[in-house]
Amino acid sequence: MERYALWTNDVETTSIWFNTLRDETGLKVWKEGMPALLDIYEQFGIKSTFFFTGYIAKLYPDIVKMVQGRGHEIGSHSFSHRKEDGLDVLPYAKQLQQLQQSKAVLEDISGEKVISFRSPALRLSKDTARALIESGYRIDSSVASQRFDLFLSFGGRKKLNWLRAPRLPYRVDENNIFRRGNSPLVEVPLSATLFPYVSTTMRIFPTITGLQRRLLHSESGWNQKPIVFDIHPNEFIDESSEQRTIERRSKNLLAYYLKDLLRAKLKAKNLGPKAAPLYKQEIAYYQLRGYTFDTLKSYCFKTGLLPS
Ligand SMILES: [Zn+2]
Repeated sequence: MERYALWTNDVETTSIWFNTLRDETGLKVWKEGMPALLDIYEQFGIKSTFFFTGYIAKLYPDIVKMVQGRGHEIGSHSFSHRKEDGLDVLPYAKQLQQLQQSKAVLEDISGEKVISFRSPALRLSKDTARALIESGYRIDSSVASQRFDLFLSFGGRKKLNWLRAPRLPYRVDENNIFRRGNSPLVEVPLSATLFPYVSTTMRIFPTITGLQRRLLHSESGWNQKPIVFDIHPNEFIDESSEQRTIERRSKNLLAYYLKDLLRAKLKAKNLGPKAAPLYKQEIAYYQLRGYTFDTLKSYCFKTGLLPS
């Protein structure tokens, strides 16, 4: 029985340190974060999928070519990563625009067909499956089945859909991406165990990630669920030498100290070179246990989820 580890990377101009989108951060991602991340994959001899926002691809096309040159899959992370362009808030026509624009930019740069997609901040609406299909995508990986996120991220309430979504990869219902159906679109859910199994957790609470990986490995033993991990090259850069002021989103002072300050502090934990050993440990765990590391596209074709 073959077990799969599908490593995925979201590439965007988000600065974790400044908690905002910045072109300068995108430049650092291209020049510093991405080479560090690609070297780790080279070292382990593995291939993965990279989701680029159309925005960063247009700004620094060479970052796409750099990844393509190392044999990884090029996927789309929509066009814009701004909160107001979230797929959970945009009407159908605007979603379509985001999806098509990003695909066109990435295909133009890579000369390859782009069929895999991950939504920024995993935000989706009932219309997103239809918009993805109409734009020519075949694979989505934006549903985090059994992950509980209510207070932790934007669009938290809508993410309650995750609690009921299937855990194994599935053909989606055209009118509801969280449900099984028979549309041409395949969902490969992100791994989760109530807590998100992503690099943010890995950096902030490495002990939790250690427990998660044991759970996910044993689950994969009985139902063959692929392990889908999510990391960002912007975690391999360190901007902490630059001055920041922490935005106050909470109304009262206590909430400000507890939520805004603590969140800002936690989110910046183990950024830059400190992220690398943690990540290598994550990869090594599955490699030692004989997992096949693959791109989403190749996994879907090999396992028959998509007809070849
Ligand atoms: Zn993102």
